[in-house]
Amino acid sequence: MKRLIGKIDPNNRNVSIWGAGFSGLVLGYYLKDQGYNVTIHERSNKVGGKIQTNKSGPGLAEKAANALYLNQDGLELLKELKLEPLPASKNLKRLLFIKGKARKPFQFSLLAKVASNSHKKPPLITDGLNVADFFRPLLGEENLKHYLSPALGGLYAVPVDQLHFRSIFPQVGSKAQFDSYFSFLKMFFKYHKEQPKLETSGSVSFEGGMQTLVDRLAEVLRHDIRLNSKETPKLNQNIIICTDATNASELLNEIRPELSDELARIEYRPLSSTTIFLKREIRPLHKAFGVLIPLENGFQSIGILNNKAIFPANNENVSAYTLISPKDLTKEEILNDLKLLSPDLEENDIEHFEKTYWEKALPIYNLQLFLAIKKLHQLCMKETNIAIFGNYVAGISLRDMISAAKSFARNPTDYKGFNF
Ligand SMILES: Cc1cc2nc3c(=O)[nH]c(=O)nc-3n(C[C@H](O)[C@H](O)[C@H](O)COP(=O)(O)OP(=O)(O)OC[C@H]3O[C@@H](n4cnc5c(N)ncnc54)[C@H](O)[C@@H]3O)c2cc1C
Repeated sequence: MKRLIGKIDPNNRNVSIWGAGFSGLVLGYYLKDQGYNVTIHERSNKVGGKIQTNKSGPGLAEKAANALYLNQDGLELLKELKLEPLPASKNLKRLLFIKGKARKPFQFSLLAKVASNSHKKPPLITDGLNVADFFRPLLGEENLKHYLSPALGGLYAVPVDQLHFRSIFPQVGSKAQFDSYFSFLKMFFKYHKEQPKLETSGSVSFEGGMQTLVDRLAEVLRHDIRLNSKETPKLNQNIIICTDATNASELLNEIRPELSDELARIEYRPLSSTTIFLKREIRPLHKAFGVLIPLENGFQSIGILNNKAIFPANNENVSAYTLISPKDLTKEEILNDLKLLSPDLEENDIEHFEKTYWEKALPIYNLQLFLAIKKLHQLCMKETNIAIFGNYVAGISLRDMISAAKSFARNPTDYKGFNF
């Protein structure tokens, strides 16, 4: 999935981008680096889109991404931007809320189940296959609910039976089939082993939070960004749309109604992100990255991050946690969730909290998205000067967006269509 949809006109060195979120900024950066004249139209009065770091509380509060998970392209980008990464603390526990407690996920019963079922043949990998159906024979229904669903739900914010297998595991390849789960797991571990070793690895942030990365990109592009822009795409220019799919649909409605209709089919998940600063630590999250929480446990949150443990330098004198929830949480609900982990917590332990709620926070990586992307690729094969990007095209994570933008910018006029 690490590719943009569409291409630009090889005879025109001017490129107009819509959206100065991370996708628009990183793509603008790489295209500029390749000698294109870039103009980025941003509807709001600020850059960064969902990524914003609030510095007004006792520590830093990230609205969306709290870290960049590095790959080779990400590391090279930081070097080019002369940005010093702040690595996340190593060896933190990653917990799952299982049977009333935050625990380490690799319980003996799970490993035993995997070992005893690894000889089984997985279902055929088809376009319609979802993640739950693929893993059910290996893990069983209970483990799907208790382990896999929260683990992937923490990343994609939807239950595993809604997640489209080939979109979530693009490394599997378009023609691959497996005669056993053992061969699937072997392929998976081999793929990860083959990834180049990096001098800095894992998740990183920056002094000043993720805003520092966004601001640095914006600084490089300072003459090319038009804030508060009401500009709409015109057919005689190179157009790259880097907004969410709903806004992309609106932007292309007049000039390309067929593309617009497909974009309108892409579904989004609502989410809130609340950072809360406490006078004391939540003990079960001591030395933990955070906890992922399966639905049906009385919680309103699907995950709670321990910001101070992850990036101590950005939260020096305060315990800070970020709660991710499908709901727009009230203060009472936030406290209730924390009390489920730490029953003696009281309201006056709260120093400060900040919350952001998006009706359309993240695209749902379901079959509908896969089919829409396939159709958009087909339609864009006929286009000469339109490309589409954003976190519904090449993956939700910033590192996937960096890789996709970089490879597009190196050859933005060449396009092979749908190919995964
Ligand atoms: C709670 C949360 C936590 C996350 N955590 C992580 C993490 O830790 N690591 C990670 O890698 N990723 C994380 N992500 C994902 C990542 O933050 C997003 O995928 C990414 O920021 C999305 O960038 P984008 O450019 O695709 O979209 P957006 O950020 O939505 O940017 C789109 C931009 O387009 C603009 N726009 C819209 N309409 C128009 C128009 N008509 N004209 C001009 N401009 C327009 C908007 O104003 C906005 O600036 C997280 C996401 C969420 C919600």
